Amino acid sequence: MSAPWQTTLAAGGVLVIDGGMGTELQRLGVPMDEVVWSGAAVLSHPDVVRTVHEDYIRAGADVIITNTFGSTRQMLGGAGLGAQVEQAHRLAVALAQEARAATNSRVAIAGSLSPTPPGFDRQAYPPPEEELAVYRESAHLLADSGVDLIALEMLEDTVHAPLAMRAALETGLPVWLGVSCRRVDGRLVRFSERGPEVPLADILDLLVPLGPDLVNIMHTEIDAVSEALVMVRQRWPGPIGVYPESGYFAQPNWNFVDVISPDDLAREAQGWINDGAQLVGGCCGTGPEHIRALRAGC
Ligand SMILES: [Zn+2]
Repeated sequence: MSAPWQTTLAAGGVLVIDGGMGTELQRLGVPMDEVVWSGAAVLSHPDVVRTVHEDYIRAGADVIITNTFGSTRQMLGGAGLGAQVEQAHRLAVALAQEARAATNSRVAIAGSLSPTPPGFDRQAYPPPEEELAVYRESAHLLADSGVDLIALEMLEDTVHAPLAMRAALETGLPVWLGVSCRRVDGRLVRFSERGPEVPLADILDLLVPLGPDLVNIMHTEIDAVSEALVMVRQRWPGPIGVYPESGYFAQPNWNFVDVISPDDLAREAQGWINDGAQLVGGCCGTGPEHIRALRAGC
């Protein structure tokens, strides 16, 4: 039997995914870490993580994402928390499951997996075979803890991203490929400003053939989304999602400056839906009120 999220997509409907997790934790007073960003929050502030999940479910999200973006061994290990990698994954999934139970909802739980390096430092990646093992460990822990699917987040290069995607696909769970980009001199390139500018087209050409179940344009500047949607559609006939960021990152904190209003995000989302998006939500900088506005418009 198909899950509600699968039925909605198959029928051509639109899913609402949650808003930012790390930035919402920061807004509620949870300190962000230079190396793991929000990755340690499930260990230090589990009640706040569960509350944020509940807030997003009550705002109308069909899908929530676990707070595991920064839980890989390369991230937690970089902060001296390597012994707590398994606990961080299992607890993060349990908090999402508790929020689902507390709200008596059928929300889907997506396990976040990202190849982001410790401290966002691209020189800090482990050797490739060790790196693949890092992603396999996270993907296995998410699957074993009971997530419904794996949401790959901020896949934005052609070296590290394929390793994370391979690890996610090996679980046999549905895999959502999340790519991130910004506009530079009229071209769409990967979001992160550190390291070489990788064209979004190159990232998609490499990763889409690996076989995701859905492609998300996530943690992307709002004014780059429409063009990114066209690029994804040229390469991918399946469902596409959009959950952009708003504001800016000054490591390790988010600056909630010029964040798009919930009503404006809902208006933008209607345009993306008209262009074929089947999933909308928010990433860094957005909160439960954004999701409430998106729900009202879907
Ligand atoms: Zn984000």
